[in-house]
Amino acid sequence: MSIKVDQLSHRFGDDEILRQINLSIGEGEVVCILGPSGSGKSTLLRLIAGLEALQCGELKIGDKTITKDADVPAEKRRVGLVFQDHVLFPHMTVAENVAFGLAGNNERLVDSLLESVELTDFRSRYPHTLSGGQQQRVALIRALANQPIAMLLDEPFANVDVGLRTALRDDALNALRASGTATVLVTHDPEEAMLMADRIACLVDGEIVQTGTPEELWSGPRHPFVAQTIAGAQVVDGVAVAGQIETVFGSLRVSSQISGDVKVCINKRDLKLVDGDRAEVRDVRFVDGANIVSVRAGQQSLSVLSDKPLEFSPGDSVNLLFATDSTQVYPA
Ligand code: ADP
Ligand code: MG
Repeated sequence: MSIKVDQLSHRFGDDEILRQINLSIGEGEVVCILGPSGSGKSTLLRLIAGLEALQCGELKIGDKTITKDADVPAEKRRVGLVFQDHVLFPHMTVAENVAFGLAGNNERLVDSLLESVELTDFRSRYPHTLSGGQQQRVALIRALANQPIAMLLDEPFANVDVGLRTALRDDALNALRASGTATVLVTHDPEEAMLMADRIACLVDGEIVQTGTPEELWSGPRHPFVAQTIAGAQVVDGVAVAGQIETVFGSLRVSSQISGDVKVCINKRDLKLVDGDRAEVRDVRFVDGANIVSVRAGQQSLSVLSDKPLEFSPGDSVNLLFATDSTQVYPA
């Protein structure tokens, strides 16, 4: 393993920001840390980089082991950093930026890196004459030029125009794969994580709630955040008594003996409208050959996908049937 994070916890003052983080990233592997804003993603990355002092737990980067009492300074960790705000040296050309910090004549390395992100023709330009996306690509290969053991990227595409982002992600992925380095990419964007990652670690309130390949998380979410952001599920509150769950939209049975307040996660494909008096149809839209029906009960809303001719209209009273084999239920 190129990077191993073992039982890492971190506090700022009295606030516990990260709790018992375990994560390993192999050579050539891209692992995304996906989590909402404030969940501790940047703090975790800064700890791996050595920009924040380790308080608890252990880090392995290549053959170096780092603990609170056995620190390795940032510049000795051989990690490459790319942040949201790429900082290139304004008085140096693109090629000089990439070669910065390299010993000796490295023209061939610089050339091949420039080629890997399709910037060969820009080698003599100055940063201010490049677009944001191009500058970000230069920042990426500058970090790669030192042949780091690990690349740490913190929301690197967040400031790039949406239209350019796809191409930039492809270029970045190619360059990272070609380098064989272990990569940790932090993002709050589930689509970016799905597109880029070999594995995704989901960070919620300072805890990794689930780690897996995009497909594993999509098909087997084990936490409401994963169900919602990756599997596209909707979340409804419920109360369970020995596996019988009541929601404002209707009731369902699950095989587990779960009891108490729960979160029910359900895809709009797995709901069915039936006659009843619990909820009201608010809106019907025809999209991609199917009806998307918006249903409301109390303060909660759900969308229902129906590809059959619809017998309900806005204002009608309904109940919902849950396809129980695809419904995920978690303790609230
Ligand atoms: P993310 O990158 O997921 O948005 P951060 O790691 O930046 O989250 O922050 C996690 C939490 O730690 C936030 O509540 C933030 O306010 C807090 N935090 C981050 N850095 C510091 C710091 N240097 N001092 C105190 N609190 C901090
Ligand atoms: Mg952050």
